[in-house]
Amino acid sequence: MPTKYIVTLGSLMSGLGKGVLTSSILKILDFNGYKVLPVKFDGYLNYDCGTMNPYRHGEVFVLDDKSEVDMDFGIYERFLNKSLSGDLSITGGKLFGKVTSKERNGDYLGEDIQIIPHLTNEIIKQVEGIAEKNKLDVLIIEVGGTVGDIENSYFIEAMRQLALRNEVVFINLTYIPKIDVVGEQKTKLAQLGFRALLQLGIRPNFIICRGTEPLLEKTKEKLALFSNLSKEKIIDDSDQKTMYNLPLHLMHQRFDKMLVKELGLKRKEIDKKRLEFWKKSVYRVVEPSHYINVAIVGKYTELKDSYASVKEALIHAGSANETGVNISWIDAERLEKEDPESLLSGIDGLLVPGAFGKRGIEGMIKAIKHAREKKIPYLGLCLGMQLMAVEYARNVCSMDGANSTEFNPSTKYKIIDLIKSQKYIKQKGGTMRLGSWKCNVIEKNSIVYGSYGESVIYERHRHRYEFNNKYRAALSRKELKITGVNLDSNLVEFIEWSDAFGIGTQAHPELKSRIESPAPLFVSFVKAGLDNKIR
Ligand code: GLN
Repeated sequence: MPTKYIVTLGSLMSGLGKGVLTSSILKILDFNGYKVLPVKFDGYLNYDCGTMNPYRHGEVFVLDDKSEVDMDFGIYERFLNKSLSGDLSITGGKLFGKVTSKERNGDYLGEDIQIIPHLTNEIIKQVEGIAEKNKLDVLIIEVGGTVGDIENSYFIEAMRQLALRNEVVFINLTYIPKIDVVGEQKTKLAQLGFRALLQLGIRPNFIICRGTEPLLEKTKEKLALFSNLSKEKIIDDSDQKTMYNLPLHLMHQRFDKMLVKELGLKRKEIDKKRLEFWKKSVYRVVEPSHYINVAIVGKYTELKDSYASVKEALIHAGSANETGVNISWIDAERLEKEDPESLLSGIDGLLVPGAFGKRGIEGMIKAIKHAREKKIPYLGLCLGMQLMAVEYARNVCSMDGANSTEFNPSTKYKIIDLIKSQKYIKQKGGTMRLGSWKCNVIEKNSIVYGSYGESVIYERHRHRYEFNNKYRAALSRKELKITGVNLDSNLVEFIEWSDAFGIGTQAHPELKSRIESPAPLFVSFVKAGLDNKIR
């Protein structure tokens, strides 16, 4: 059977949770036994997210294949429990680049190149190519941005054309506000959003309504009347206690069954075992019997989206340990001025996540010192591992002013430095140490081995600087152990304190954490936090 398509489009405004909706649709079709994948379209003219500031755009997500993609890919992977590839991310930058390089190549000889048909044909070709290559039952395409944006207009037009030769179901995510004084759910905005799509030649098959409270029957009826849809096709997407509940909430409304019918797919057996596991995990997220307190000391703490994967990995690990995890977000710069004793009081674990640039570094080092001295469980991710080494060099090995050359190029003790292959790189985009790298566990009596239970592991990376091998011997003499390395390139991957739970990794294990398979290091960290609490 040829691949069917679902296109999710958001009207009225951004930030409605199109990524979570798309991921939930992926998941319910996956539970129903269909082979599905997502494609994300982002209209910006960057080639990818790699050079964007996390403060503006949220976290840069990295895939196994080194692609730096939109954070929505994190949600897709977390729901689908599958590693995805970079070709599923189609950006305006990639598309325009492709079309202009084809033009230079003479592929369109004699023609004047236009948005329609050249760019739109390129989109359709790529989308159909992905469907065919992966032999999919359903390909779900999320159109980034809002209907009416110039940036995604050509993509919406391509989707209209895709529907001329394929089975396509269009899903309109919209917003239903409630005016407090009147206490009534208002549908006018949603009607306007629906009409905007009609004007573009697209007639949505379903309207999904975001809102703070469940959709009332009479709101559904009104929207159904104005959109020529039956009432069941107006779906509630009101606030859930956790986003992982949305697939279940949609299934509860029989949305999966309606989708299967609308797409003309053959009915398949539902995977009851995995569905039950999902339900159980979600229940543990929503109703934990107790909590631990974890402090995240970072520099992008004002925009939580900058650390989306870290936050989710803690939720997954909490669910696995049957505990909730309260996160205190602490701006590293505050720690530079204030006493760690008071700012970090009552925490059961400290986490320093990845970051770039000098701001807040000294505050992070102060926090790590506090955790080491007080034996508070510590997890350092990428920069958090680099600073764990710097802190140890300064405060235990008496290497005054030890640092990473990223922050002080002329430091006497270059504990963290660029390796040769990074030194002469001029181009910024896509040139870091990216994607999945192998790590060999070299010490079995270690946190890393205890967590993974394997001696060869793969985790994703995104950084330029490395542990400087010149200091390996000097630093591993006392209570610091190097427990994992990449033997092919002789790079340090894991370091640990030997007398308490403290581990730093050059990788970003949070990127591979999913509710169905939580990141092992996070599971151990949360467990250590729990033990610390009980102590
Ligand atoms: N800034 C550091 C580096 O480039 C750490 C990067 C990160 O934490 N992802 O190596």
